[in-house]
Amino acid sequence: MGQTARTTKLLLDFSGRSQGGANPGKREHLAATVEILNAARRFYLDFFLAHPDKLMERVEVISKKTGEVREGVISADHLLTWAEFHTVETPDHPTPLPDWNFSRAFPDLPNRYRRSVIKDVIGKARGYLTSVTKWHASGKKQGKPGIPTAANHPTLYAGTFSLDLDELDVRKSFLRLKVYTGSEWVWVHYPTCYNRYFDRRRAEPGWETESPKLILSKQSAAIHFLQTKTITAKKIVESKRDPDLVTVAVDLNVKQLAVITVRQHGVIKETRFVSDHGLDQHRFQHLKRVAKKQWQAGKAVKGEHSNQQLWAHVRRQHGDCAHKTARAIVEVCEKYPGCVLVFERLRTIKASGGSKSRRLNRKQANQLRGKINQLAKEKAYAIGVVSVEVNPHGTSQYCARCGCKGVRFTSQAGQRVTGKGGKLFSCPACHYECHADFNASCNVHHSRLNALSGYRSDGRMAGEGNPTDPAQARMQVSIHVKVVGLLLVQRGHVPTRMLSRTAPQVITHGNLAGTPVCRTA
Ligand SMILES: [Zn+2]
Repeated sequence: MGQTARTTKLLLDFSGRSQGGANPGKREHLAATVEILNAARRFYLDFFLAHPDKLMERVEVISKKTGEVREGVISADHLLTWAEFHTVETPDHPTPLPDWNFSRAFPDLPNRYRRSVIKDVIGKARGYLTSVTKWHASGKKQGKPGIPTAANHPTLYAGTFSLDLDELDVRKSFLRLKVYTGSEWVWVHYPTCYNRYFDRRRAEPGWETESPKLILSKQSAAIHFLQTKTITAKKIVESKRDPDLVTVAVDLNVKQLAVITVRQHGVIKETRFVSDHGLDQHRFQHLKRVAKKQWQAGKAVKGEHSNQQLWAHVRRQHGDCAHKTARAIVEVCEKYPGCVLVFERLRTIKASGGSKSRRLNRKQANQLRGKINQLAKEKAYAIGVVSVEVNPHGTSQYCARCGCKGVRFTSQAGQRVTGKGGKLFSCPACHYECHADFNASCNVHHSRLNALSGYRSDGRMAGEGNPTDPAQARMQVSIHVKVVGLLLVQRGHVPTRMLSRTAPQVITHGNLAGTPVCRTA
C-alpha cells in the first residue's frame, strides 16, 4: 500500500468586470491577506526559534497502532496548544508572555488562520534546527543552513473558505474567502474559472481532497486542492512470477519522444509511437536565437536572466509535451491491468560538439526525457501500475530478435546509407530490419525479462520496484557480473553464443563468426 498525491487547480477569475471577473480591489485583498499571514508566520517563527528546547523536547508517545509507549519528539498538536497558551490572550488566560503577545500584534486574526500559520512554522523551524545540528556535527565550515523564510502560500482550513457551487450554472460559482482588507477581516466572494474538468477531477472516486492552498502569483490567483489516493499494487517480485505477465516497455528518444511496446508470452502485442510533432526543430530555432543574442551581448550579467520570454516559452512547451506523452504511456498501461511499466535508466546524451545552439538543444531534449519519465511513473502509479528501471546497456545496438550487434542506416533515394545517426536498424545475422527506436523498445523487455540487469545474490533485483515507494530505486549491476550484449554473465566468462530472447521463435543460422546464435525454442 502506498500513497500518491496530485494537485487540482481552480483559477480565480480576474478578467475584466464585463467578462464576469472580480470587482476591482478584490485582488488587493488577497495580496493583503498573504502579507499579513506572512507577518504572522514571521512572528511565530521567531517565537519558536527563541524556544528551541521546547521544539525538540522528547516526550513519551503512545503509538496509535500498537499502544506501545516510547520516547519521541513532542507532537505538533501539543506544540500548537503550548504556543497558543503563551502568546494568545483569552478571558481564562489574560497574560501571555509579555514579549510575545500575538493578540496585541495581530488583533482579530481569525484563529483558523492562526493555527494554520503555527502548524506551518513548526515544520519549518524543526527542519532548520535539525539541519543546524547536522551541520554542527559534520564539522564543516561551509554550508551553514540559512534561517527559513516566513513566506509561504496560505493554507485554507475549513472555516476560512467555502466553495458555493451552483450545479445548474457553473458560471455562477463563487469561492467565499475570509480575507484581510487592510483594516479588518471580511468574507468576500470571488468568481472562479469553474469548469467541468475541475468538477470531474474533484469528484473522481478514490481521491481524497485535503486542505487547499491559495497561490497568488503576479498574473493569476488560484486555489490548489491537494488530493491523495491510497494505492494497492502488487510487488514486482510477485508479478514477475505470473506467467501471463504483460510488460509495457518505453524507449524515450528525441524525435520519437516515446516508443511504447506491449509484450506478453514473448510476443509484441501492441506498439505506439509518440512523435514530438516537430518540437525538437522548433526549439532549435528558438535556441539559435538565444545563442546568437548571447554571443552579441557578450558576457552575461550576474544575477540577471536573459531571454526570459523565450525560455518561458520553451518551458511551457516542455511541460505540455511531457504531460501529453506521459498520458499516452499511461493510456496504454490502462488497457492491460496488472502490467508492469519498464523504462530504461536514462543516460544523458552528451551535449558536446556542434554549435552552441545544438548543445543547448541537446540539453533541453535530455531534460524533456527526464520529465516524461518522471511524470509517466507518477501517473502510472496513480492507476496502480508499478514501474521498473532497467540497465540501458546496448538496447539500441543489438538485434531484438537474435541479439547480434546490428548497424544503423537510413534510406536515401533508394540507397542504404549506413551511419551512426540512422533512423533504421538492420541485423547482419538474421537480416531483420526495423525502426531503430522500435528495436530499442523491444530490447527493453528483454533486459528485464531475461534478468539481464542487476540481480543481487539473494535472487532479487537490486533496488527493484517497491510498490509503497513511488520514487523507485535504480538498478545496480554487481561487481561479479557484467553485461555482454544483452546478456548478464559472470566476469571473466566469455559467452560463445547469444541466447535468443524471442522464444519460441526458431531462427537457425550462424552469426558473423559462424556460431549458431539462437536457442531453439
Ligand atoms: Zn538479428
